[in-house]
Amino acid sequence: MALACGLDLGGTKLLGVVVDTERPGPPLLEERVPTPRGGDAIVEAIVDLAGRLCDQADGDGVTAVGLGAPGLVDRSGTLRMGPNLPGVVDLGLAELLSKRLGLPVVVDNDATSAAWAEHEWGAARGHDHSMTVSLGTGIGAGFTVKGHVLRGANGFAGEPGHMIVNPTGPLCPCGKRGCWERYASGSGLGRLAREAAHAGVAPTLVERAGGEPEDVRGEHVTDAAREGDPAAEEVLGRFSWWVALGLANLVNILDSDVIVIAGGLAEAGDLILGPTRAAYRDLVLAADHRPEVPIHAAELGEHAGAIGAGLLAVARH
Ligand SMILES: [Zn+2]
Repeated sequence: MALACGLDLGGTKLLGVVVDTERPGPPLLEERVPTPRGGDAIVEAIVDLAGRLCDQADGDGVTAVGLGAPGLVDRSGTLRMGPNLPGVVDLGLAELLSKRLGLPVVVDNDATSAAWAEHEWGAARGHDHSMTVSLGTGIGAGFTVKGHVLRGANGFAGEPGHMIVNPTGPLCPCGKRGCWERYASGSGLGRLAREAAHAGVAPTLVERAGGEPEDVRGEHVTDAAREGDPAAEEVLGRFSWWVALGLANLVNILDSDVIVIAGGLAEAGDLILGPTRAAYRDLVLAADHRPEVPIHAAELGEHAGAIGAGLLAVARH
């Protein structure tokens, strides 16, 4: 048994788990707390939660702590900035936490941690060149190359959500225009659906939203598409094209051997994966002359980031 504590720091909640890194499966322990505001309070919350989980874990005891953090995490485990953690910059998490907890602490990007979990225990098992793309409010991603996490020169690799796919597109919170996540995330789906609603071609979606085109959200589209609503399927088709565009660009660069789709939108399953697979084939370079790249739904759900952080902590310390 090799126990690790893994934590996934989100904009609103902090999820902690204890896993036996030698036995794939659901976490042995898990607990969630709200994410407080400010760097000092975040460190306290992590120390409290990790400390509590380590105390509860029996057997050989926890040997390492891993944390997935939402933002640019450098190779020393410092969170340089997190777009969903206002005011948190240059927070030396690995150093602060290992001093306080008295254990080795490894900090990585949250989506990188989730991708590692899918590679080790989930839908990307057995694939050395994997890509896990999480479609939520924004887009997070992580990559493996030759079976190792792709970190880049500084640790900042894996931010395809901010690939610019349309220089005259909508403004992104990052300050640029037309980033991929403006189109291919949950907020992107909502925007495409509102465009259809304002154009008068999706009256059923407007009805679901209570009569106001501006109130149409992504979940109205996925709910309606599940019931076979053609207007919703049309919006999902356009949305899936944008998802496929980014995936094809990434495969053209990385030559991945599997694509895993995670995040809230992965729950829509084949409603999104079906049209995404078809559009991907049209968009990737020379589809007829390369092996098929399977596009799977993620398997580890909301635990992926915390599990992956725990696995990385044991692998790296
Ligand atoms: Zn952006």
